[in-house]
Amino acid sequence: MLVILGLLLGLAVGSFLNVVIHRLPRGESIVYPPSRCPACGARLGPAELVPVVSYLVQKGRCRHCGARISPRYPLVELLTGVLFAAAAYLRPVLWPDLVFLWAFLAFLVALAFIDADTYLLPDSLTYGGLALGLLAGGLGMNGGLFRALLGALLAAGLMVLVGGYGNLVLRRLKDGKPSWPVGFHQVYLAALAGAFLGPAWGTMLGLLNWLLNALTRRGWNLPEPVSLLLLPPVLVLHPAGPLAAGQGALVAAGALALLGGLYWAFLPEPEEDDDEPVALGFGDVKLSGMLGAWSGFPAFLVGLFVAVLAGAVLGVLFRRKRLPFGPYLALGGVVAVFFGDALWKVYLASVGW
Ligand SMILES: [Zn+2]
Repeated sequence: MLVILGLLLGLAVGSFLNVVIHRLPRGESIVYPPSRCPACGARLGPAELVPVVSYLVQKGRCRHCGARISPRYPLVELLTGVLFAAAAYLRPVLWPDLVFLWAFLAFLVALAFIDADTYLLPDSLTYGGLALGLLAGGLGMNGGLFRALLGALLAAGLMVLVGGYGNLVLRRLKDGKPSWPVGFHQVYLAALAGAFLGPAWGTMLGLLNWLLNALTRRGWNLPEPVSLLLLPPVLVLHPAGPLAAGQGALVAAGALALLGGLYWAFLPEPEEDDDEPVALGFGDVKLSGMLGAWSGFPAFLVGLFVAVLAGAVLGVLFRRKRLPFGPYLALGGVVAVFFGDALWKVYLASVGW
C-alpha cells in the first residue's frame, strides 16, 4: 500500500521537479506561471500534466504545435516514482521516516539534474537538504541530531580537504587566491588547528581568523601550502593517534567550510574565476555535507566510493571533458542512506575488524 502511494506521489513530485530543474537555475519562480510548452507557449491543461501517461498518449509531442518534448521529462517523473516506491519498500514507516526520506530524494533528483545541466548545485537545495537532514535527526532519524551534525561536518571536511590537496597539486604548490573575510585559507587553518587541538579549538581558531579579517578589514591568511603540507605529519605524529587527530581536522574544516559557504550564499554571486584550475567544486562540498547528515560518516564513505566508481566508469563511457560530480554523489548518497551502514559492516568484516 505504502509502495503504491510512494510510486504515485513520486510521479507527481517528479512532474514538479521538472519545473524546479528548469526554472530554479534561471532564478524564476517555481510556482508561477503555470507550465507552458517551451516551443509554442501554449498553456498546458490538466490532461497534459499527468506524469508519464500524457507523454505516451501524445507520443512525445506537444498537442498544440507538434514540437518534440524531451524524453527527460517522463524520465525524471519515472525515476522519482521508482525512488519513492523503493524508499517505501525499504522503510515502511510513514511518519517521520518516509515523509523526510521522500523530501531528501526529491532534493537529490533536483540537484543531480541541475548539476548535469548547469554545473551548479544551488545553495537553496544543498543547505535546504542539510537543514532537513538535521531536522530529521532531531526527530530521531539519521541516528539522532548529534550523529547527523557530526556526519555533515566530517563529510564536508573530507571533501574540502580532498579538493584542497587537488587544487594545490594543480597550482603546483603555489598559494591560492584568498577570499575576504573567509575562504579556503580559514578552512585549512581550522583543519590544522583541529588536528593539533581537537575539533572545538580548530573551529574556534578558524572563526577567530574570520573575525580578525572582518574587524581589521585586512586579509590575514596562513598560506595554503603551509597548512595543507603540515597537516599530514601532524596527523601521523599526534600522540592521540591519527584517527582522533583526523577527526579533529575534518570536523573543524567541515564547520568552517559549511559556515563560510553559508555566509557566501547570502552575498551576490562573486565573479567566477576560470583562470584558476579547480579539482572539486565547492558545491560538491556542500552536497557532501547534506549527504553526511543523512547517512552518517562511515556510510558516506561507502557513498563516495560508489560516486567515484560510477563517475570513472561513466566518464570513460561518455568521454566528456568536464564532468559534473553532483549526479554521481547523489547516486552514492542514495546508496549510502539506504545501504551504507550495512555495506560498511561488510567492508570492516572483510578487512578483519
Ligand atoms: Zn507547443
